[in-house]
Amino acid sequence: MLYVVSGPSGCGKSTLIRRLVNEMKPGVRFSVSHTTRAKRSMELQGKDYYFVSEEEFQSLVREGAFLEWALVHGRLYGTTRQEVESKLEGGDLLLDIDVQGARQVRARYPRAVFVFVAPSHPKELKRRLELRGSNSPESIRERLAAARKEVESFEEFDYIVINDFLERAVQELRSIIVSGKCRRENRLEEMSSILSSYRLEADS
Ligand code: ADP
Ligand code: 5GP
Repeated sequence: MLYVVSGPSGCGKSTLIRRLVNEMKPGVRFSVSHTTRAKRSMELQGKDYYFVSEEEFQSLVREGAFLEWALVHGRLYGTTRQEVESKLEGGDLLLDIDVQGARQVRARYPRAVFVFVAPSHPKELKRRLELRGSNSPESIRERLAAARKEVESFEEFDYIVINDFLERAVQELRSIIVSGKCRRENRLEEMSSILSSYRLEADS
């Protein structure tokens, strides 16, 4: 099952996803995106992102390697088809992508689950962006301006997680993933085996 997690920069998407991928591994995985933005000090190449040059990114675009890509806060970000197809096999996959990317994924995977994350107040969003310490004041202003437009798109999503209290937000996202696992279409294999055991029992 594919879960698309979107929301304004600084709202806590990576924090929530990191927590749940750690807790629910190996069945739940994170889709590592390609980006042309600079690596932050705590980030790892190939784990948080594939950090690439603009030329490398454009060449992947030309090859048709991306399932979706977008220009976000002046940098290029994209999810390759290969990343999604390989990691989705036999498991759940979480994508941390912006609203434009979410729209492109919806066109290709209409059955994916779309989750929007937001803290309830922009002042808190600003505080988190400042606290993270990885963005210049100019880039923080840009991200806050974009946040308003992003929040306006909430109606395009299936679920909303309000990340004011981290533990509650983790629990909300966990519940969304667990309920996805329980959907009938994801239980067909198990049900087929359960059904045969009921039939065998009835015949004996
Ligand atoms: P995003 O991936 O959406 O850009 P991050 O996960 O990097 O956001 O979170 C931005 C900052 O906010 C980080 O410093 C993170 O530790 C902090 N943060 C995330 N969720 C909460 C929360 N519920 N309460 C307080 N701080 C939070
Ligand atoms: P950051 O630079 O803070 O890690 O991410 C900035 C924004 O880019 C976030 O909204 C994040 O969700 C988005 N993003 C990260 N990876 C991708 C991607 O592969 N595709 C798209 N469209 N957006 C992405």
